[in-house]
Amino acid sequence: MLTPKFDNLVKELKVLPSVGQKTAQRMALHLLNHKRTQGIQLAEALMIAMNEIKQCQICRGFSDDDICPICANPQRDNQLLCIVETAGDMVAIEQTASFQGRYFVLGGYLSPIDGIGAEQLGIDQLIFQLKRQIDEGNPVKEVILATNNTVEGQTTAFFVSEAIKPYVGQISRIAQGVPMGGELEYLDSMTLGQALQNRGKI
Ligand SMILES: [Zn+2]
Repeated sequence: MLTPKFDNLVKELKVLPSVGQKTAQRMALHLLNHKRTQGIQLAEALMIAMNEIKQCQICRGFSDDDICPICANPQRDNQLLCIVETAGDMVAIEQTASFQGRYFVLGGYLSPIDGIGAEQLGIDQLIFQLKRQIDEGNPVKEVILATNNTVEGQTTAFFVSEAIKPYVGQISRIAQGVPMGGELEYLDSMTLGQALQNRGKI
């Protein structure tokens, strides 16, 4: 539209989620007009992150080093393990500051049609770690399955729990049910049904 270099920048910006043509153009103009230094810093941060952030060898979350800060932290309870679908889910749980255990990131959900099975979800790696902790006399006491509350997430939770049952003390599923501020009459019947089933003592 303006110049080939400008058009290319717009095209690359559109890789970002919820950034369409107009937003990308606005971003490109903004950087060129007012924020050239910051634009270069952004490019450098992108370059470093894309080239250097890797997968933690223990939890499969994102990490700058072979082992991520959570797995390397001796204060974290390594007898409590939370299994999530994505690194984003791990970040979301970390931000609640209510979990002191460690994580394992599946990297998706079970989907045989798309070729995503035990191998892609790292089940062997997970079992290897659980076994190693047993051998070290430090077995995982509880695994929390925090996969999404979708059909795929539920199927994945069931699949993982069957695979790891022999190696852990207890397996639990995060509570599903009424969200904070949720009014019962507006909930779908599946959510309300689950909330009733998962009721706890007060
Ligand atoms: Zn880790």
